[in-house]
Amino acid sequence: MTAHITIAPIPESQAGPRRYRLLIDGAWTEARAGGTIERVAPAHGVAVSIYERAGREDALAAVAAARAAFDNGTWPRMTGAERSSLLLKVAARIEARAEEFARLDAIEAGKPIAQVRGEMAGAVDIWRFAAALARTLHGQSFSTIGETKLGVVLREPIGVVSIITPWNFPFLILSQKLPFALAAGCTAVVKPSEMTSASALLLGEILIEVGLPKGVVNIVTGTGPEAGAPTVESADVDMLSFTGSTKVGKALMASAAGTLKKVSMELGGKNAQIVFPDADLEAATDAIVFGAFFNAGECCNAGSRLVVHASIAEELVERVRARSARVRVGDPLDDATVVGALISQDHTDKIGAYVEGARGAGARFPAGGAMLSADSGRFMAPTIVTGVSPDMAIAREEVFGPVLTVLTFETPQEAIAIGNGTEYGLSAGVWSANFDTCHLVSRALRAGTVWINTFMDGASELPFGGFKQSGLGRELGIHAALDYTEEKTLHLHSGGRPK
Ligand code: NAD
Repeated sequence: MTAHITIAPIPESQAGPRRYRLLIDGAWTEARAGGTIERVAPAHGVAVSIYERAGREDALAAVAAARAAFDNGTWPRMTGAERSSLLLKVAARIEARAEEFARLDAIEAGKPIAQVRGEMAGAVDIWRFAAALARTLHGQSFSTIGETKLGVVLREPIGVVSIITPWNFPFLILSQKLPFALAAGCTAVVKPSEMTSASALLLGEILIEVGLPKGVVNIVTGTGPEAGAPTVESADVDMLSFTGSTKVGKALMASAAGTLKKVSMELGGKNAQIVFPDADLEAATDAIVFGAFFNAGECCNAGSRLVVHASIAEELVERVRARSARVRVGDPLDDATVVGALISQDHTDKIGAYVEGARGAGARFPAGGAMLSADSGRFMAPTIVTGVSPDMAIAREEVFGPVLTVLTFETPQEAIAIGNGTEYGLSAGVWSANFDTCHLVSRALRAGTVWINTFMDGASELPFGGFKQSGLGRELGIHAALDYTEEKTLHLHSGGRPK
């Protein structure tokens, strides 16, 4: 049992509250209607940031700046090599200030600092990868359509992109979108989560330093309905790239339909880790604990459902319980912490309602199921829930907390049915020493990523996204920049018009 959690004060050099502004058309500006949003650090309970509370006018000014930079500016007309060179400079500056970025995200989101350092390394790699794609974007030519004819298919930047991001991986998720939009020659309006906007604004400083033309990237802070929604409705925005909850994603798709803009959606997940009796249980245990409690379970990819063969369920749950007891929950700024604070009181209440609902329905809790005492902030013990059926809310819906629900199966077909038995289809894991089992089950799972004898690996080269209600489209991968382009077909012809 974790003892009382002690939270050290935020070091003087990072203590706030820091005051931030909006970035519109290359200038740091205040919200036209006035008003600010104060961010209280979820682990420390003190105000760390004060943001401008942008409204409709500010959002539309940002859209106008992005539109002008796209229609009349140099950015979409630069060579791929020029854009690539600028993206590489951005990557180098992010890398040089990675610790500063990591501390901002750790303090604002209550995430463990050691984990965020890894996210920063991943983000830098993505910016470099996008820089490479900026030089490789190309179209196609068709000389087979007639001797006097040539078909040329161009890849043009789609235009102005609205980028709306969540709080759980503030800088990493922005980095899965913005560098690819820029690589393709697009301009953007970024609306980070109102809870974790600091790292996006620090990036704004870097974009100015490296000489990105004004208006190419605009950053508006504020609530979703006030600062984000106007960009989704605007006819001057050509594409929405959204990561967040399935509920908000659906509402934004409906809103985007008003102007028929392209949408890319990275939404929720309820991901299964399916374990067969012949699996390496030591390796599986390690990955199950990591997958369920990484980022305090506030992760779209969390392996929040353990789907285990009935014959090994008792043994595996005991292994997972023993390993979970060693997971260090505590101060996000302590290098040894593995699970940090929950993001907000509302969110804590939502997780609590799932836990109490399951308890009321007769579920058992081999581990956790309660909040931990702490100097400040909200910390939940790594929680394991057994004695539940696949149709219960805690087994089907995204809890988004450090809660692992255990379900059992007898046959591979049953495991597949449970794995596919939610509205989501983001990711899954399969654990078995048998190639046929891994092959059969991974092919039958309706999920965008299936990890085999591993969990939550990622690489900039590999596409990421969801089936079903987990999303629409893919991020990362060698085609990531293509998502931010339109195809234009040119018919070239010599001689008289063919009869
Ligand atoms: P959220 O949907 O509440 O908010 C996401 C963003 O949308 C925020 O910036 C918010 O201000 C904005 N927003 C909210 N309402 C809006 C509106 N009406 N108009 C315009 N913008 C609006 O999600 P969250 O709580 O910040 O993040 C958690 C969710 O994100 C989880 O469901 C998680 O699964 C999902 N997520 C998915 C992925 C993925 O890659 N699939 C990654 C991370 C998080």
